[in-house]
Amino acid sequence: MLELKDVTAHYGTSQALFGMSFSLEAGQVATLLGRNGMGKTTTIHTMMGIVKASGGSIRFGGEEILGQPSFRIANLGIGLVPEGRQIFPNLSLMENLVATASNHLGVADPWTVDRVFALFPELETRTGSMGNLLSGGEQQMLAIGRALMTNPRLLILDEATEGLAPLVRQKIWAALTEIRKAGMSIIVVDKNLSDLLRISDRHFVVQRGQVVWTGTSADLQADAEVRQRYLGF
Ligand code: ATP
Repeated sequence: MLELKDVTAHYGTSQALFGMSFSLEAGQVATLLGRNGMGKTTTIHTMMGIVKASGGSIRFGGEEILGQPSFRIANLGIGLVPEGRQIFPNLSLMENLVATASNHLGVADPWTVDRVFALFPELETRTGSMGNLLSGGEQQMLAIGRALMTNPRLLILDEATEGLAPLVRQKIWAALTEIRKAGMSIIVVDKNLSDLLRISDRHFVVQRGQVVWTGTSADLQADAEVRQRYLGF
C-alpha cells in the first residue's frame, strides 16, 4: 500500500532525511521509533507533501505521491493526526469534525459523526464547545475523529498521546485497536513504546534520517541492544 524508497529531504542546506525507505501493507499497523530529532516528523511531513522531498520515491496505492500537493495526497486517502493536534480554536467541536469531512474514495461504510461519537463518547457531550476550550484529551480524540471523517485508507498519528494522562492514553489506544479492526492501515509515531508493542505489527527504527532496524514487536522485545542503542531504554 505504501512504499518509501531512498527519500531525501532538506531544510535549507541542512539535510534531514538520508535515504528513508520502508513499506507498509494494507491493514498493517506500523510505528516509526527513534530519539528526538531523528527525522520521524519530517518523514511524515514529506509523505503528506508538507515538506518537499529532494529525492527518492513515495508510492501510495501504486501511485507516485512524492511532489504532489498536500490536498491531493489527502484526497488519495492519507489522513494525518498532526503533532500538537492543530484543532481549529475558534470552531466548535462539531464544526471541527465536519469542516474537512469527505468521502473522496467513495468508501461504502464511511465514518460519520455518529460513528466517531460511538468511538469517543466523551465528544458527544461537548459538540457546541469551542476548540480552544476542550481539554488536551478531548482535542486529541477530536483530531483523530476529524481525520477519520476524511475516510482515509491510511491514518498517520504523530505523537498522539504526548502530554496526556495515562487513562486518556489508554482510551486513545483502545480506539486505535477498534479502528484497526475496521481494516485501517495505521502509522504511529509515539514515545509510549509499551503500548505500541501491543498494537503494532511492525516497527521501523529511525536514526539520522534513515531506517536502521525493522522487525516485529516480539523481535524488538527480544533485542535489548537495539532498544538500548537507538531508543535508550
Ligand atoms: P521529535 O520527536 O523531536 O519531533 P523527529 O524524529 O520527529 O523528532 P524531526 O522533527 O523530523 O525529528 O527532525 C529531524 C531533523 O530536522 C532535526 O535535526 C531537526 O532539527 C531538523 N528540523 C526539523 N524541522 C525543521 C525546520 N522546520 N527547520 C529546520 N530544521 C528542522
